[in-house]
Amino acid sequence: KREAAIVGAGIAGIAAAIRLANKGFRVTVYEANSYAGGKLSAFETKGYRFDAGPSLFTLPQLVDELFVVSGKNPSDYFEYIRLPVVCQYFYEDGTRITAYSQPEEFAREIEQKTGEPCENILHFLQDSQTKYELTSEVFLHRSLHKASTYLNAHAWKGYTHFPKLDVFRTMHQANKATFKDPRVIQLFNRYATYNGSDPYQTPATMNIIPHLEYNMGAYFPKKGMHHITHSLVQLANEKGVNFNFNAPVQEILTDGQQANGVKVHNQNIQADIVISNMDVVNTYKKLLPKASQPKKILNQPKSSSALIFYWGIQHPFPELDMHNIFFSQNYQEEFTHIFQKQTVYQDPTVYINITSKHKKDDAPEGCENWFVMINVPNNAGQDWDKLIQEARKNILTKLSRVLDKDIEPLIACESILDPRTIESRTSSSQGALYGNSSNNRYAAFLRHANFSSQIKNLYFCGGSVHPGGGIPLCLLSAKIATDLIK
Ligand code: FAD
Repeated sequence: KREAAIVGAGIAGIAAAIRLANKGFRVTVYEANSYAGGKLSAFETKGYRFDAGPSLFTLPQLVDELFVVSGKNPSDYFEYIRLPVVCQYFYEDGTRITAYSQPEEFAREIEQKTGEPCENILHFLQDSQTKYELTSEVFLHRSLHKASTYLNAHAWKGYTHFPKLDVFRTMHQANKATFKDPRVIQLFNRYATYNGSDPYQTPATMNIIPHLEYNMGAYFPKKGMHHITHSLVQLANEKGVNFNFNAPVQEILTDGQQANGVKVHNQNIQADIVISNMDVVNTYKKLLPKASQPKKILNQPKSSSALIFYWGIQHPFPELDMHNIFFSQNYQEEFTHIFQKQTVYQDPTVYINITSKHKKDDAPEGCENWFVMINVPNNAGQDWDKLIQEARKNILTKLSRVLDKDIEPLIACESILDPRTIESRTSSSQGALYGNSSNNRYAAFLRHANFSSQIKNLYFCGGSVHPGGGIPLCLLSAKIATDLIK
């Protein structure tokens, strides 16, 4: 049997391990942490359970696919529900919009609350679907770094419909031209944050993202987000994958031309192929210091990061749902602070995720597990301790005002995750959530390929390489990388 070594048990590393085991490889995953999942992990404290990272789950069929290609029935391992309400939106002027998952219902709600005509919303979502269908096959499902990708029928369809991709306007410019009401523009501009980008810079092509939520659906795993990791690790174990925890890879071994193993605990371990699920910037810096560095690609601006307060809240809030957004009053200023000034805005948009709304045992009776997150710049050495204290105060003031209830006394327990800890726990360059940002129209072409062009038998998967960050794209990166292995 051929040996495969995988660096990192993030979601993409686990998916790659399953796919390689299915191809007949003997697979060993080396993980620096004592647990699997990287950003997709969870923890418990004082009777509250928190998913530590991702909270929004789209394209669940990509998880199912891993069970199917392994000859298993997905629902024997992993179950999820489609959310009837995608998000509750709260604005400072008192407007509240319930984002129903059904497009017609959502459009009616927006018209009722803002006067924005239903047809505008439905037309926008239709257009989002068209963009998705024109781009996904080429940009998400294939290597962008192989000539064959550009010569197939899907690519030709994209070329002939190129104007529909809307690459020359920013998301904000497109949304401003589509909608009259500023609250609706803000709502749809928010989708830029789904890959850590800025709606005032990212191309309007990114308006494909709402299609995922409204036309294809937002989901929640019945046992919590972390169950995605858990069920895939179970499948990998059944497929004979060997996981080594507390095993940081120190070096990827090469003879200069091809990879032939990894160094772990100061021991050289031979392998026929190596896949790195470690952030690609750090893979080059730390594991391949002698290889020539693709500087232009590695130096691309990174996505935003996040500051999260995990709060056990001793009070029920029936007006809140599983996903809630409290918008800032000046969205453009907020993004200028994140991406240009590299600091935290004093009136940030606050996201609250409450899994106990659907999974009751995630919090004690009458209580809720609040995952309170704001978008912040990636780590460039800011004074985070100071910024965190200021942000905490501003968030509490904002939430107490909008919810008309003093929140601070209700906090039973608190944990904090910030760009520094995201960086140190997952080796993510600058603590970015999604690898490179998509703040320019060439971003898709400036992500690292899923293979090395200088070192044979070396492959890459995960949020820092093609096709990008977020659970669905990470799963696709594992598929693209392993499909390249003959
Ligand atoms: P990572 O999760 O980055 O893990 C990499 C793993 O490799 C880690 O376990 C690390 O310890 C290990 N490793 C690194 N270096 C080494 C080494 N040298 N040796 C051994 N092991 C090593 N996505 C969504 O789809 N929806 C969301 O709602 C969402 N929200 C998010 C919120 C937060 C707070 C965060 C942090 C992320 C969020 N994301 C979301 C993004 C998503 O979590 C990531 O894109 C995805 O989980 C990244 O997976 P990955 O495979 O790239 O690996």
